[in-house]
Amino acid sequence: MSINYACVGCSTLLRPRKNDVCVHITMEDGSNYQLWQADLWECPDCGNQTLLGYGQMCWAEHYEPDFNRHVKTADFTINGQSKALS
Ligand SMILES: [Zn+2]
Repeated sequence: MSINYACVGCSTLLRPRKNDVCVHITMEDGSNYQLWQADLWECPDCGNQTLLGYGQMCWAEHYEPDFNRHVKTADFTINGQSKALS
């Protein structure tokens, strides 16, 4: 048994739903920034999904010529500006 990421609300371990999803990280204003690979994990009880296991580096940057073509393949778009906790 391996202990890994957990859903605190459900007191259960997350499960990997899909590996190597494409994540589009945007600037704070929603404009293009970077594309990353990550793994999608999910709580089997409540269904909350979490992106984890990002690679060491992004694989595309907004200024690269093929970025607009690659960004259409993104599975998720996430605002890169983290918000304060309340
Ligand atoms: Zn849960």
